[in-house]
Amino acid sequence: MNYSFKNIITHKKEGKELSKEEIKWIVNAFLTGEVTDYQMAAFLATIYFKGMSAQETADLTSVYVDSGKTYDLSAIKGWKADKHSTGGIGDKISFIFSPLVASYGIKVAKLSGRALGQTGGTIDKLESIPGWNSELTEKEFIQVVEKTGLSIIGSSANIAPADKKIYALRDVVEMVDSIPLIAASIMSKKLVIDADSIVLDVKVGSGAFMKDIPTAVELSRAMVDIGKAHNRQVVALITDMDKPLGRMIGNALEIKEAWETLHGNGPEDIIDISATAVGITLVKAGIFKNLEEAKKSVMQKLKTGEAAHYLVDMIKAQGGDWSVMEDYDKNFATKNHIEIKAEKDGYMKFIDAQQLGFLAIELGAGRKVKEDHLDHAAGIYLNKVSDEKVQKGDVVMTLLSNKEPNASWNEMAKTSFDIVSQPFEEKTIKEIIE
Ligand code: URA
Repeated sequence: MNYSFKNIITHKKEGKELSKEEIKWIVNAFLTGEVTDYQMAAFLATIYFKGMSAQETADLTSVYVDSGKTYDLSAIKGWKADKHSTGGIGDKISFIFSPLVASYGIKVAKLSGRALGQTGGTIDKLESIPGWNSELTEKEFIQVVEKTGLSIIGSSANIAPADKKIYALRDVVEMVDSIPLIAASIMSKKLVIDADSIVLDVKVGSGAFMKDIPTAVELSRAMVDIGKAHNRQVVALITDMDKPLGRMIGNALEIKEAWETLHGNGPEDIIDISATAVGITLVKAGIFKNLEEAKKSVMQKLKTGEAAHYLVDMIKAQGGDWSVMEDYDKNFATKNHIEIKAEKDGYMKFIDAQQLGFLAIELGAGRKVKEDHLDHAAGIYLNKVSDEKVQKGDVVMTLLSNKEPNASWNEMAKTSFDIVSQPFEEKTIKEIIE
């Protein structure tokens, strides 16, 4: 069959469902340059307005996956689990999920990214540990999983290159916020690894990409459907990102908070998401019959701290010197500790979590441009979390930085929260989509 740009875009404009061959042709022709940027932009705009069926979205995902490297984990025996977050402020769930899951004999082989915009990156956080290496060969990656139960490595340029090229174009022509395009983009980078189950943590709120629950539900359904079409068990949690997760925002700080959580000293919101994500995985793997039973067991492991060593084993197996975490205050000291105080009595309520993400970047914990040097010790400690009672003069957050202090930091911190007169309840997990 002869395909052409004209035929394919005409089909889409007429509302016809595209075949996988048509999708494959246009994506591959864009990669070779036969379809130009402006033609692809027109095609993306047609998808933007006409949408894509579940089958088309699944096919687009397969085409993205097949455009680059995939990992064959068939040598690893037993259930393989993965987890992915759409990105939030203070999100360190992967460092708790992975060791917990591994402690049940389930294997976690995970590809992760660096910081994107105001949200931190798993790889940047792990690089707080000197010597830790994110660039393993496929063979080394599999060896670390076999030895320690888990491994996390960086996603390379070779992963779904068709998505990378199309994403860059979507970004400049304002076509990012299309559900099928986002769903295919995210899932393609998950499906390059043949995990049996994937828990998606879809963040919703002021600090997230998805600002409202209906859109987060729509995206979650699209991603769960892609998983089904590829014979993977995918469950999506829709979780609150109107407030940051936990008390710590920053690179080494988030590893520290994950470590404390693995020893039973974690904040409620982190425990809630971690126990639910791990519990779902355990039920999918057939270790427990229902989520309640599974979560009970996970809570017990958090209390005893017995899963914590799996995180250290992985870090050491990838060259990291964990001893830096044993004297955290000395090894991650910062020159400046700036205290932000409450100006009245009441209850802490975050109103702009995204602002705290941007503030963490200003403090040195993130990058404004790709070349920026990252300060692993910099970040924000939340002395008061959401809904916590505060009195006038209490320190509500502490800004940690090695940079020259700037007056705008106080302003950014103060506009990220309000102090309200009544306590309020916020559910961390809004919905579970299967
Ligand atoms: N993250 C991705 O990887 N792709 C999108 O399209 C949006 C967010």
